[in-house]
Formats: sequence, structure tokens, C-alpha cells
Amino acid sequence: MKVFVTGGAGYIGSVCVEHLLDNGYAVVVFDNLSEGHRAAVDPRAEFIEGDLRDADSIETALGDTHPDAVMHFAASALVGESMKNPSKYFRNNVVSAVNLLEAMIHKQIGCLVFSSTCATFGIPDRMPLDETQPQRPINPYGESKLMVEKMLRWYSQLHEMKCVVLRYFNASGASHRYGEDHRIETHLIPNVLKVALGQKDHVEIFGTDYETPDGTCVRDYIHIADLAQAHRLALSIRESDFFNLGTGGGNSVREVIGCCERVSGKTIKVLESPRRPGDPARLVADSRKAREILGWKPAFQDIEKIVQSAWEWHCTHPNGYGD
Ligand code: UDP
Repeated sequence: MKVFVTGGAGYIGSVCVEHLLDNGYAVVVFDNLSEGHRAAVDPRAEFIEGDLRDADSIETALGDTHPDAVMHFAASALVGESMKNPSKYFRNNVVSAVNLLEAMIHKQIGCLVFSSTCATFGIPDRMPLDETQPQRPINPYGESKLMVEKMLRWYSQLHEMKCVVLRYFNASGASHRYGEDHRIETHLIPNVLKVALGQKDHVEIFGTDYETPDGTCVRDYIHIADLAQAHRLALSIRESDFFNLGTGGGNSVREVIGCCERVSGKTIKVLESPRRPGDPARLVADSRKAREILGWKPAFQDIEKIVQSAWEWHCTHPNGYGD
């Protein structure tokens, strides 16, 4: 089976590509390298440099490679940036998805696995968050992903396309070869580890007055290898469906920093700063549906092992992919 992976040079996409190849799939990576890195593309995969905003480019790539399924990772994915530049999110995430879906219909490719996010839920009524809860995004990033989810419901009905939506909580960790190297790093774990590596002086804690046990935001950190496993399993279910993917456990910002100190053996200097706009206090997944229907069994259940894998990658790649 051949899988076409958009955004396969990015953080989560690269590890998913590696996982698919390790499990016997053929893989084509389609990426414009705006966020991704050429060195993050597994050499066993075919690579096409192309841009989803260009409808001809994606249609040609699908026509040339004849995949059986598409995994769509390519997207802009920063909450804060989306509050400042919403057009970028609607163009990169929504317009690009329309181009991809049209091209899939023209080329008769009937299976899509879509990277969505817990940011589609906004501020939830109750926790942990299962798939029955209302989706009311509070930032353009979450809104753009929800718009695509809604489009997929129509495409699966009207074009008999199987669309599986996977809503990630906080993707984290690394494989031995591939890890997190964003050109502008805003995520908590890599930022803390950069302090441990001596590349940054301190890390900011955005908000210490949340209604959580230690006043800092709680998130559900899920290892990217476990996300990759869920993508592979999503290929084999028969019907369109949607799943929330997390461990079901939550860690506060202070707990993550403490964990990074233990794993790295370094003291992390922190600066307490105001809240970051668009951040809910607590986001924790209920992933029972993924376990039951996909047969998903996440291997990384505790933050210590997740941070350990990230730390090993950052130590062996202190300058990321070096581009
Ligand atoms: N955060 C922080 N300092 C940082 C980066 C993030 O305090 O340098 C907090 C952020 O406000 C959020 C949590 O850490 O509560 C996780 O943020 P991240 O950007 O990693 O992921 P998000 O939850 O936004 O997807």
C-alpha cells in the first residue's frame, strides 16, 4: 500500500513517515519545506517539493504517484500566530485542504487521514474531553481545522471518501532520528530543553493564576510515535470517523519544567509571565474511542519517557536539522 503524506518533512509527519516505512508501506512525501526540513524526510520515501496552495501541483503529484491513501499533516499550527494573522491560517489550512480534496476526487483516491487538533474544542465544558463534546474554537487555528473537519463530513458523504479525523492533544517527544525543530519555536518542551542545553537563558511560564493545582496550564502530552501508530491504524478502519488522541493524563507547565530538570540534570531558569491569549486552563483527552475502534495502544504513558526521548534527540541534534 502506498501512502501520500503532505507535510511529511515536518515534526509529526516525519515520524509518521518513518513509522509507515518501518511497517512495510511505500511512502511519498509532499512538502513545501516552509516549516519542514529536507533532512527530516526518511531517505526510503519518495520526496516531492510542492505547495498545496497550488492546485495543479498537488493534482500532478497525485497523478504521478498513484497512492492508495493520503495523510494530510501540512498546516500552519500556532495558536498565537493565528490570532495575529488569521488569513494565513484560512489560506494554508482551509484553501489547501480544498485543493487536496479536489485533487483526490479527480484522481479517485478514496482514503484520507486528517491531522486535527483539540484546539477545535475551545474551552471545554468537562474533562477529560471525549468526542461527544461541542466544538467551539477560540482561535483561528482551531477554527480553520474545524472548518476542514466539516468539509470532510460532506466529502465522505457525497464522494464516498473515507475520512478519518485525528485530533491531537500536545504532540511531543522524538524518535531516534526525527524530532522537533521549528524555525520559530513556541512549544513548551523544546523551549525548556533549549535552556537545559544552554541555548536559551530562561523559559517563560505563560500564566500562573489559572484554576489548576499549581496555577499553570495543564496539557495532555502525547508521544509522536503513538500518534504515528494511530495514523497507520486509521488506514484500516472501514468507515469515516473521528478520534481524540492523548494519554488521558495531564501535566502542568511547572511539572513539565520539573521533569525536564530531572531528565537533563540541569536547573532551568524560569520567568513568570502573563497568560498567553487563546490558552485554555486544562486540556486532557478521553481516548477510549481510539483504543476501542482503532485498537490504539499508546506506548508512552508518562511524561518522563516522553521528555527523555525529546532530550536525547536535542542532545544529538543541538542545531536541529541545521538548515
Ligand atoms: N507555555 C509556556 N511557556 C512556553 C511555551 C508554552 O508556559 O515557552 C505553556 C503554554 O501557555 C501552554 C503550555 O505551555 O499552556 C503548552 O504550550 P505549547 O505551545 O507547547 O502547546 P499548545 O498547548 O499551545 O498546543
